Amino acid sequence: MTFSPPSKQRIAFLDQAAATYHKQLDGSPAAEYLRKRGLSQDSAQSFRLGYVASPLSGHERYAGLLAIPYINRQGTVAIRYRCISDHDCKEIDKHSKYAREPGDDAKIYNILTLTLPVPRIAICEGEIDTITAWQSGIPAIGVAGAQNWKPMFNRLIRGYTEVITLADGDTAGLKLADAIAEKNEHATTCQMPHDLDVNQYYREHGQAALLEKAGF
Ligand SMILES: [Zn+2]
Repeated sequence: MTFSPPSKQRIAFLDQAAATYHKQLDGSPAAEYLRKRGLSQDSAQSFRLGYVASPLSGHERYAGLLAIPYINRQGTVAIRYRCISDHDCKEIDKHSKYAREPGDDAKIYNILTLTLPVPRIAICEGEIDTITAWQSGIPAIGVAGAQNWKPMFNRLIRGYTEVITLADGDTAGLKLADAIAEKNEHATTCQMPHDLDVNQYYREHGQAALLEKAGF
């Protein structure tokens, strides 16, 4: 397979989409969702989170979803969309909690963290947990599920004195942590208490508790 960088047009389109949906965030159901999850307006701004109120052409299927741009030095390289309804997404036929565009492969979320001069970083499962850790003062990257941690990503986390995977408090939560620990001697796992993810832990116990638990 030959390497082809994302085209300039594609990045320009995604930048425009991210900016458009970010403008539609204020006062939207997505803003309310973020507020309930304890994510600050500052975070919504830095991560350019958005709401798809009026979708751009081709994005009709994402209407009503939270828009989560994946941003690197070139710009927006992907946007993932998350259902923000109160229902249990698994209970609904042919519906999933997350949507991504065709051809959008596994990527690291908040990859710009890797440009920071810090000795230790955290790895989270999911974008919301990554933002939660970040706004708490933890330099964090994330992937959307254990199956999205690709072997080539191990190269990106060499050179740190320690990488700490902040794992969900269930068996599935350890999958990502174990996949990372298996290939990285400097990786450790910090698992949240039973049935809590990083965001829930933060909401129940607060920022100071999360920092202490994660060791940052
Ligand atoms: Zn749903």
